[in-house]
Amino acid sequence: MRDSFGRDITYLRLSVTDRCNLRCRYCMPEEGCSRKQHDEILSFEEIVRAVRYCSELGIIKVRITGGEPLVRKNISSLCNEISKIEGIEEVCLTTNGTLLPSLAGSLRDAGVGRVNISLDTLSPDKYRMITRLGNLSDALAGLRAALDAGFTVKVNAVLIGGFNDSEIPDLASLTMKYPLDLRFIELMPMTNGFGAEAYIKSDVVLEMLPELQEEDSDGVARRFRLPGAKGRIGLISPVSDMFCSSCNRIRITSDGYVKPCLHCADEHCIKGLDDAAMRAVLREAILSKPACHAALSAERSSNAGRFMNEIGG
Ligand code: SAM
Ligand code: SF4
Repeated sequence: MRDSFGRDITYLRLSVTDRCNLRCRYCMPEEGCSRKQHDEILSFEEIVRAVRYCSELGIIKVRITGGEPLVRKNISSLCNEISKIEGIEEVCLTTNGTLLPSLAGSLRDAGVGRVNISLDTLSPDKYRMITRLGNLSDALAGLRAALDAGFTVKVNAVLIGGFNDSEIPDLASLTMKYPLDLRFIELMPMTNGFGAEAYIKSDVVLEMLPELQEEDSDGVARRFRLPGAKGRIGLISPVSDMFCSSCNRIRITSDGYVKPCLHCADEHCIKGLDDAAMRAVLREAILSKPACHAALSAERSSNAGRFMNEIGG
């Protein structure tokens, strides 16, 4: 379906939980999130129904996210249900990867074709520092499990000045070693926990890796390759180069709100609605998608009104 500004909305980012086994500093507060009761989040039945109606409205790609989607019980059967919905051509997943060693096989069998694994550093100490709880070895084991299971793999690294900018070459060398795409994503001001120096432009990657050869752009990421590399390097610049004009996505939060724009407070509740009402709200949400969100900067936080783990990044 076309939104009010002529953009075809084909991509749903679906958060299946706001819980997480990590506590990344840029994403959620240290104490974790408010623990929602089971009946406060969308049931599997409601999720499948919502995706079916989204598909009727033109959604063809669904990304399962969270919080950490793999902590939701029976996640593989949910993915299986979603991948069987008529019109859904692609089901993919964004994860911190730590639970993939036990789940990669069943997710692959459930029709998930691609996984994006979040990995901001290759240093065990820094990994623990940025995630507050995690072990780098678990994330790396997840990455290996994803490659072994045959997924198309992307690694997402949030660029944080003074934290991992010195690691850009090391992270980039993952694309020499493995057939994966690495995407550097600019830090978005969601939690207010970072000073101005943390917000660096993705162009810093081009300065540090002058040998990068530009390939193309998919509307969100500018894509490059190191000479001889097995995978590409993408630069995603939501702060320095907002991509609102080519935004084709809507989001559904785990507690059942459609968010037409990540950085706007506008939300439309679908929880507890019957078929007709849910269809109408989904349509209305797409039509209310704004042309653009307000500019973001170190001084100007997102108007999202929620932490990232609650929205589904
Ligand atoms: N738990 C999963 C994971 O970490 O991949 C999925 C949910 S997480 C909210 C989705 C993505 O959002 C991750 O790649 C994470 O790095 C990114 N993210 C979270 N907060 C962010 C921020 N403030 N700026 C940029 N990216 C952020
Ligand atoms: Fe959890 Fe992902 Fe947020 Fe990190 S980025 S706290 S892994 S939801």
